[in-house]
This record gives sequence, structure tokens and C-alpha cells, in this order.
Amino acid sequence: MLIKPKVRGFICTTAHPDGCKAIVKEQIDHVKAQKHSENAPKKVLVIGASMGYGLATRISAAYSGGAATIGVIFDKPASGARTATAGWYNTAAFEQFAHEDGLYAKTINGDAYSSEIKKQTIELIKNDLGKVDCVVYSLAAPRRTAADGTQYTSVLKTVGSSYTNKTINLKDNTVGDITVEPATETEIEATVKVMGGEDWKDWIDALRAADAIEDNAVTVAYSYIGPDMTHPMYADGSIGKAKDHLFETAKKMTAEGAVKAYISVNKALVTQSSAAIPIVPLYISILYKVMKEKGVHEGCIEQMCRMWNEKLFADKAVTDDDDRIRMDDLEMSEDVQAAVHELWKDISTENLPTHADIEGYHTDFYRLFGFGADGVDYEAETDQNVSIPSLG
Ligand code: NAD
Repeated sequence: MLIKPKVRGFICTTAHPDGCKAIVKEQIDHVKAQKHSENAPKKVLVIGASMGYGLATRISAAYSGGAATIGVIFDKPASGARTATAGWYNTAAFEQFAHEDGLYAKTINGDAYSSEIKKQTIELIKNDLGKVDCVVYSLAAPRRTAADGTQYTSVLKTVGSSYTNKTINLKDNTVGDITVEPATETEIEATVKVMGGEDWKDWIDALRAADAIEDNAVTVAYSYIGPDMTHPMYADGSIGKAKDHLFETAKKMTAEGAVKAYISVNKALVTQSSAAIPIVPLYISILYKVMKEKGVHEGCIEQMCRMWNEKLFADKAVTDDDDRIRMDDLEMSEDVQAAVHELWKDISTENLPTHADIEGYHTDFYRLFGFGADGVDYEAETDQNVSIPSLG
């Protein structure tokens, strides 16, 4: 069938298999062309492996260190005239390329928060790899069903008082004010349950209990800090409380001694998850303009490949004083932030094209779903039914 983008709110409900494949290939080619660390792990579990930072980490692990990878994803295959999700096509393409290149790559599809998926993943590790030596935790989810059946829904709100600042309406590229209301205590607790460290630790504990993780294995999860105009919404908001919990969980797991747990603070980028946060997309589009002009812009793959080879698995992990990996080093550099603040001060609908890289924002958004890849004929009939090799 002919596959075209259908955008509803913050997501695109269609995805293009050939486009996703071409974009996965571009990411693989990027990693192949970089210098690789000698210390990279060889058996890597990636939880949240189908999109954004998780996919980029899986590609970096496989194509930097030649690692065997198991990816946990939560995606849907095509059904009738509905396309599969982009994460499904990305994973199918990744496995295909990895197998052609002689790399082990298998996938578990289901809710990573559930005990059943943890059990299935551990069985696969024990059967095929024995133990993993690295666990990447890259879930970004709106809700979680806990082991006792309770449903928690995360919110993107402030904490304490409301906050008003500029935001962009991505439907018509207009800039206006938005007021974000504070989360209730219950909403904050629910956000911590979904995006905090509890499930990360559940994974590590389950792997340890099953003897499916090497002693002194490394585990990493992702966070964001950003500049002050985003703090009420992000670092000091409900999601920030969850990220604080994630950080405390890293310290706790490292203190327990069986794994070395890291938080990597990554750059703000267009992903399915960040598109839904008020204020942040306008900041990202200004940031893109500034960083591209300065020649220091990176996407998920550049970030994760650099993290893998130059920070996490450098001779000694490169961290800040709080033992965090700082992949936001270029974003937070003084000259970049000064330029962003200058543009932020008077950005409006009228000057958006000169003050922000709004075209770059939209291009990246469509590429998340496989639209806009080089060398793909979007007018051609395309088979939406694609299988993930290891899922049959
Ligand atoms: P994303 O939406 O691109 O990817 C999230 C992944 O999690 C997807 O593959 C999705 O399918 C998977 N997932 C969601 N629920 C799942 C479930 N129940 N079971 C299994 N898989 C599930 O998001 P992202 O932006 O790559 O975010 C990944 C991490 O990086 C998050 O912790 C996020 O906070 C962090 N981060 C993102 C940014 C940014 O700007 N995008 C910046 C810094 C840190």
C-alpha cells in the first residue's frame, strides 16, 4: 500500500518500513565509522530498545563492541491496513542488518514493567548468552501496571506552583504562552512509579536472582537536566522528581556492590516522548539552530555512540563530580546556552523561522516514523507486513 504520515497530536499513527530501515542503516553506518572502545561489553540487554536513545544505544553496542544484544520492546506488528509501529520496523531492520553482519540479536516484545516479560527475557539470556555484562534502561512510558495490578499514570507538570512561559503549537507553528499547573502529590508519586528507578532495580534484582548478570556488570539509565527556562517543567517538575529517584536508585544499586550503575544525562532531542512536553519543543528547536550553526549538533546516534566509546567504556568512565555521565556537555556549554537565551527572549510566531530551526524539528519528528529518509520512494507501493526475524 501507499504509506503516508498521519499525525494525531504528538504522534504519527503510521510508519514507513523502508524509511525506518534506511534510518537504522544510517545509524549503523555512523557507528561503523567511529573509533571504538576496547572495553565495550559483549552481551548487552537493552530495555526500551526500539526508538530514540534505546535504539541508538543498541546500535552502538552491536556495532562498536560487536556485542550480542537482546532488546525488550513494546511494539505492534502491522494489522490489516494499519502499519506496524515505527519501533517494530526499526527492530526488524536492526535484527536483519545485525544477522547479516554475523551479530547475535534477539528481541522480546511485551510490557517491560511486567514480571512475565522479565521472566521471558531471563530465560532467553540463560539459554543463549548465559549472563549479560551490561543492561541499558531506556524506557519512556506514559503508564505502568505494577506487579500488584495498580495502574500508575505519569504527568508532565510542575511541582509547587504553576509556571507560565512560551511554547510552540506544532500544528500551526505558532508561539504563545502556556501555563502549566502543579501536579498533586498523588500525580507526583505516580510519575515516580512510572519513570523513577523502581522498575530498573526490579530488573537488576531479577537478573541477579537468576544468576543472569555478570559480577560487576554495568547498567545505565538516562536523564535530563537542561537550562533554567525548562526547570519548572522538567528538572524541578514531576518528571524531575522521577529522575531524582532514578539517580538515587543508581547510587543504591552501586552501593549494594553487584553492579556499577550510571545515570547518563543526555541532550534534549526530538523523540516520541519529548514531543509531548510543554515548552521543551520550542527550546529544542532553538537549540538545534544554535548547535547546527556552531557545528556541534548531535542526534541520538551521535550521542550514544560517543557515550559508549568515549565516556561509559573509556579506560575509566568519564563522569562529573556526582558520578553522572554528561552527554549534555555540548548543549550546556556557556556559548550555546548564551545564544539560546538571547533567541528565547524575543522569539515569536513572526520571527520563528529566523530564531529557531523549526524545519529541523519537523524533519526529525517525521524521521522518527520513517518519513523523509534519503533514497526511499514514498510514492511506491510498500508492503506493510514486515516480521522481526527472532519473533518469527
Ligand atoms: P522514546 O519514546 O524514543 O523511546 C522510549 C522507548 O521505550 C521506546 O522504544 C518504547 O517503545 C519503549 N517503551 C515504552 N514503554 C515500554 C514498555 N512498557 N515496555 C517496553 N518498552 C517500552 O524516548 P527517548 O526520548 O529515547 O527516552 C528514553 C530515555 O531517555 C528516557 O528515560 C528519557 O527520559 C531519556 N532522555 C530523553 C531525552 C530527550 O530529549 N528525548 C533527553 C534526555 C534523556
